[in-house]
Amino acid sequence: MSTLTRALSLVDADELVSLTRELVRIPSVVRPGEPGTTEADVAAHVEAWMRAQGFDVEIQRVAPDRPNVLGVLGAAGSGPALLLEGHTDVVTEGDPAAWTHPPFAAELVDGKIYGRGAADMKSGLAAAMIAAAAIKRSGAPLAGRLVVGALVDEEGDMLGAKHLCTTPLGRELSAAIICEPEQNELCLEQRGVVWARVTARGRMAHGAMPEAGANPISALATLVADAPRLERRLRALCTRSRYLKPPTVTPTVIAAPIAGVAQSNVIPGAAHATLDVRLTPGPDADAVAKEIDEACRRAADRWPGVSVEWAPVNGFRLATKVEREEPLVRAMVGAVRRATGRAARWGGVPGSTDGTILRMQLGIPIVTCGPGHRLIPHQVDEYVEVGELVDAARIYVAAALTYLKP
Ligand SMILES: [Zn+2]
Repeated sequence: MSTLTRALSLVDADELVSLTRELVRIPSVVRPGEPGTTEADVAAHVEAWMRAQGFDVEIQRVAPDRPNVLGVLGAAGSGPALLLEGHTDVVTEGDPAAWTHPPFAAELVDGKIYGRGAADMKSGLAAAMIAAAAIKRSGAPLAGRLVVGALVDEEGDMLGAKHLCTTPLGRELSAAIICEPEQNELCLEQRGVVWARVTARGRMAHGAMPEAGANPISALATLVADAPRLERRLRALCTRSRYLKPPTVTPTVIAAPIAGVAQSNVIPGAAHATLDVRLTPGPDADAVAKEIDEACRRAADRWPGVSVEWAPVNGFRLATKVEREEPLVRAMVGAVRRATGRAARWGGVPGSTDGTILRMQLGIPIVTCGPGHRLIPHQVDEYVEVGELVDAARIYVAAALTYLKP
């Protein structure tokens, strides 16, 4: 029996389902200001599990009670380092009464595990952990290191991924599989995002005498009405992709006044809006910024006395793309066939992920591939199909053993 066949046979579906359910049952919605609501408990569970498997474990303190947990197989300096990446935070469950299956019960019904994080992405993380354990139990030799990373804050500012990129272990990485829910498709492209926080400043005045002031709300109205034009311009700059929706510009926040009490007869001094700008590969940050600058300038020109400025929230996360010739991609194409008996299916990631940070800051190739329907994250009655979950773990085993073959 080949080492790969042996390692695949050691992926235990029951153990994988149990681990996924354990992780879902530990709520890890991050609620700022509420003590005890971070990724700490689920990270501790992941750490204990990895130590019990005999992984080398590194804990990175990203913020108080917010640790990255990394489990490592293989010796440093012996070859490339492949990361299987997941995050431990989940988004809010919203109103629990809206769920048919309680959000943190991890109910298993008709081959599906339900709960917040079932798809995004405790299942993907569990599949990565079980894949590494199967490889370790098989005794397969590795040329290099396999790292399973359970990072914090993907749903927030991606502090965990940003921190990892500054550490020796992060800088050692040669490639990463991002285990996000993509129906086990191989996604080589991800859309980028810029949250443009726009501030309009005018002059406060009485609502009955608008000629005495300069209304920042009117300038934001012009900007929002102009959003389709900005979208068209960005579409012209960006490359068309078979796997990604074209760029979009979506106003998501509008607020006035910025300070003080809202009153019906007061023109506020300042107002703000946020544009959620999604990108496909092509332009660099300067080219995107120039288009947003011009949209702001058009709005300001229309309303004398009002200035319109913007700044990116959390910087630029540009779209990413990896070529099919990359060794990791080739390893994964073979891995899908070996693990599932079918040809690889290709896809694209509609949003940005921790992989965006790894690609931008480390320059390494990333492939996003994990269990769970692409559209199910952040919904009520989020679920993952057990069959897809097991396939994911098997794909990770085959990809890692191919990429790290001595
Ligand atoms: Zn996710």
